[in-house]
Amino acid sequence: MKILFASQNVNKVKEISKLLPKHIEIIGLKDIGFSDDIPETASTLEGNAIMKAKYLASQLNYPIFADDTGLEIEALNGEPGVYSARYSGEDKNAEKNMDLVLKKLKGKLNRTAQFRTVISLEMNGENHCFEGKVEGVICENRSGDEGFGYDPIFKPDGYNTTFAEMSLDDKNKISHRGRAVSKFVEFLKSY
Ligand code: IMP
Repeated sequence: MKILFASQNVNKVKEISKLLPKHIEIIGLKDIGFSDDIPETASTLEGNAIMKAKYLASQLNYPIFADDTGLEIEALNGEPGVYSARYSGEDKNAEKNMDLVLKKLKGKLNRTAQFRTVISLEMNGENHCFEGKVEGVICENRSGDEGFGYDPIFKPDGYNTTFAEMSLDDKNKISHRGRAVSKFVEFLKSY
């Protein structure tokens, strides 16, 4: 079975391919030469993941899945959430995004946060969603050089290191994305 991943990112496509059973082939948008902008204007992660998958399903004849991820900080009422990539501006600058989070949390005792990923699959006219999350805290300062995005300031519960101080393999074992992908893979194994 061939499944289309609503992503232009070749590395993301490769990474997820490795986790799937052999009889399932994942292709990305680049593989089919699709470069249109995909609407992503919902106010929730699940809304965006569903919107992207449904938009593509309305024009392409494949089973399709899309994902959306955000960092949700309790003391900021769930911000940056769906705006995680562009929290500090349209240039999607990770350093500026972290600066803004640290500024907004200055002096706050509650630093509880979670990363959440939603994967939305459109297949045979049905929609299925898979959620993965990891809880933790936002540190006072950055630590580590691995990973991307908010990794240097996020410390998962039960660990003394930030995501940016972990190897990708270790991060994937406990991460929001890793957990959502596991549920998705379990579901696909029955096909
Ligand atoms: P996306 O939906 O995977 O593109 O993620 C949206 C934004 O959330 C990214 O641009 C990052 O700012 C943030 N983000 C997503 N996943 C992670 C992660 O694993 N670590 C740190 N930041 C992340």
